[in-house]
Order: sequence, then structure tokens, then C-alpha cells
Amino acid sequence: MFCGFVKMILKKGTAETMNRITEADKLIEMLETAGHEAYYVGGCVRDFLRAQTGADIDVTTSATPDEMKEVFAGLRYFETGIQHGTLTVLTPDDAHRPIEITTFRTDGAYTDNRHPDTVRFVRNLEEDLARRDFTINAMAMDRKGEAIDIYEGQTDLQAGLIRAVGDPDRRFQEDALRILRALRFAAVLDRGGESFAIEAATEAAMFRNKELLRNISAERIYAELKKLITGPYAGIVIRRYVEIIGVFIPELLPMKGFEQHNPYHKYDVLEHCVRAMEVVEGAGFAEGYQMKLAALLHDVAKPQKFFLDENGVGHMYGHAAAGEEMVRNILNRLKADNETKKRVCMLVKYHDLVFQEDRRLLKKWMNRYTPEMLLEILHIKRADNLATGNMSEELAQKFDRIEAEIRAILEEEQCFSVKDLAVDGSDLMAVAGGLSDQRWQTSGPWIRSLLQALLDDVIEGTLPNEKEALTARAAELLKKAD
Ligand code: ATP
Ligand code: MG
Repeated sequence: MFCGFVKMILKKGTAETMNRITEADKLIEMLETAGHEAYYVGGCVRDFLRAQTGADIDVTTSATPDEMKEVFAGLRYFETGIQHGTLTVLTPDDAHRPIEITTFRTDGAYTDNRHPDTVRFVRNLEEDLARRDFTINAMAMDRKGEAIDIYEGQTDLQAGLIRAVGDPDRRFQEDALRILRALRFAAVLDRGGESFAIEAATEAAMFRNKELLRNISAERIYAELKKLITGPYAGIVIRRYVEIIGVFIPELLPMKGFEQHNPYHKYDVLEHCVRAMEVVEGAGFAEGYQMKLAALLHDVAKPQKFFLDENGVGHMYGHAAAGEEMVRNILNRLKADNETKKRVCMLVKYHDLVFQEDRRLLKKWMNRYTPEMLLEILHIKRADNLATGNMSEELAQKFDRIEAEIRAILEEEQCFSVKDLAVDGSDLMAVAGGLSDQRWQTSGPWIRSLLQALLDDVIEGTLPNEKEALTARAAELLKKAD
């Protein structure tokens, strides 16, 4: 039915994709010529059928790892996944995006809810497809474009359904990460502007088996979470499945249904945070998932810090600082990388910074936080306000003006940090050399303080950023110091 499909994709795809499919075709052909079977499989077939490309191309074959090595003896390959049957082959024309080729295999018994005790190489495709997680991920396609679809993956793909292959309870008990993978696919996959749904029996089994996620390593959970949270339907998924995500981020659970009793807020804490996550945009520096995580978690400490005043109004003083602490714990637990921890914690800590349209203040903050971080904070702040459901057009415009102002300071290369000053430490040493005071004759922390004092004056506008004026002012300050 799907004969010629690859060719259709070739016409639609980008030059890069066309090139990759041509390259993969060659590898498949090499295996076939040597008497083996080989097929496109898994995510790439799903995406081809949705006329989407971009995911990695995976190939599955009847050839054993040793047989593959024979076939690809003339090419470069890596053997990192060889014990699971995977050879990573660098194709001659596209060496920077290798193609993974895996021997048909079936998984042995699972005793720990995450790893098969053994993997067994098999000679037929059907057995290989049976070990795959969801029907939409369990299709193969030959080189001519013919789909091999035993589990009606195409029907589910068209209907937008995520359905476990086989008995869902058993499949989630084998590898509980699949529960989170279902959520990830629901968050990421799109069909004409609509999200995918999780089929009812699969969904019920996910809820039943959710506690098994505790057996899964933080690394595997975090890798799926990063993909989930940047999906276009992440908000829908988090709202519906917070009890499942709550198994590894229990801090989300008290946020659900937590009313804020505050005229600025229409929504409970979780709904507010999910909305912030949905609307936050990358500031162009932090990774998308870092901004999304920060937005989702920015008010995580609100339930803990909440109190009602005598007028029945809710307050959450200190929730940003407490939130930073909680988010650090969450990210440590998930084994997030240090850069992510630093950025997300910083964004949570400063999400309630009060911005003013004041060029001097903005320059001081650009110096204190770095311009990149300041823009990120501004973006979180804007998302936070938007997610109250009450942001005025006036405030939105104010955020736009502040962002424009920060970008203008950068573009005009205005001075906001000591390294932008027209003098440096050695200039100050030279100034000090002309003075008799012995204190300034050797370098020391006084240089940093003096540069900072000059910077303050430049930002205030009381001193031009010119060498002559700066050295004169430096001499004056040194003479004054006692
Ligand atoms: P992506 O677009 O993110 O690459 P993908 O479907 O290719 O999506 P991968 O994690 O790359 O997802 O996995 C490749 C294929 O391997 C899947 O399509 C699925 O068939 C199978 N698979 C991956 N992880 C599991 C798992 N935990 N249990 C069963 N099958 C899995
Ligand atoms: Mg993949």
C-alpha cells in the first residue's frame, strides 16, 4: 500500500533528509545483497508516514552483529551498542550523522521493570516488532517503501492514538519507562494541530503501574522528561497525568488545586505554572527545555509558603528563594547537568524581580546577572504574568519596551561591565604609579573596587567612558582614599 513512499518523502523532504535516506538505502541494499533482510524501523517509519522527518534513522536487520561487520567492512563503524546488537555505521557521504543498525532481537524476561535479563537475536522481523513499545513505533518499512505493520500502527497513527503493543500491564511491568514514553509521545506528536491521545486500556495500565517508575534510573527519566516538556502538548499531558509525573516530581502534587486567594491570579498554582510553561519563549540563550522547566517549577514553593492575611488575601513571601532550593533538589534527584541546574535555579530565584524602565538600573542588572540571564528572567517574568490570566496590554507593552532597551544597550555596545570600560587594571596601576602612596604600588583588590566605582559613575552618566576622564577620576578617588 505504501509502495513508493520513500520516493514521496524524498520529494517533500529537505536536501539533508533526502541525502540521509539515500545513504540508508545504500546500507540496506548492502545487507540485502549479502543475503540478509533489512528494514527501516521504529520512530523513523512513524515519522515518514506522518510525512515528517528529522528523527534519527534506525534500521533493523536479520544479520547478526558479526555478519553486519562483514558487510560493512569497507565502512567506518562504532561498536558501542554491539552487545545489544547495534552497529553504528558512518555512511561514506554523510559521516556526521551515523545510522544505527540493530539485529532483530527479542527481549528475555524482565525481573527489574527496566532491563531485559537477556536479549536474544532472532531471525525474523515479527519477533523484533513485538518487543517495541507502542503500535505507532512498531512498524517497519522496506527500501521500496512497503510498510510492515502487524499491530495496525498506521490505523492508530491516523487516529492519533498511542497504544501499547500487546498487554499494556505486562509491557509497563517489563519496562516502566514506557509509561513516561507514552506521555512523551502524547506531548510531542501532532496531527494537524491536534494532540495524540493515549488509548483507554493503555492509559488505565499507566495509572495502575505508575509506581514502577521508581525503579527507573534518573538518567532515563530525565531524558524523556526533557523531550516531553518541550512538546507542543506538554501542558495537556501534565494536566491530565500529573499523578504519574508526580511519582518522580512529587513537588508538583500539592500545586494541583492549590487556590491562591489573590486577585491577580485566576488559576490554582499548578494551572498557573503549566500556563507559564506553555507560553514561555526561549530567550535565545537557555535551551528550550530549561526555560520550560523553570516556568513549570517557578512557583513550586507556593503551597509551602502560603498564608492568608486578615482580609482573606493569599501571600507567598519568600516563595522564590524557597523554590530555588526545591528546584535544586528536584534537578539533583533527576541528575540534571550543571548548566541546567544553574540556569533553572537562577530563573526560579529571580522570577519575581521587579523590572523598571530605567536604563541605568537595567545596565546594573546586566552587569550583575549578565545580559543573557537578564533576558531569560524577563521572559520567565512575562510568561508568569501572562499565565495569571490577568495581564494587561499595558504590562505586555512594558515588557516589550524593556526587552528592546536591553537589546539596544547591547547593540549600541554601551558600557555596563568593567570589561567595557575604556581603562583596565594596568591603566589604574599606571595612575597609581604617579602617586606617592605606597598602598597602590602593588596590585590587589583595590583595582577591582576602583574599576567598579568608575563603572558606577559611567552607568550613572556622571562620567564619560573615555580614558582621560576615567584616569583623572581614578587619581581623584585614590587621592581621596584614606
Ligand atoms: P525519537 O523521535 O525521539 O527518536 P523514537 O520512536 O525513535 O522517537 P527512540 O527512543 O529513538 O524513539 O527509540 C527507537 C525505537 O525503539 C522506538 O520507536 C521503539 O520502537 C523502540 N523503543 C525504544 N525504547 C523502547 C522501550 N523502552 N520499550 C520498547 N521499545 C522501545
Ligand atoms: Mg529515535
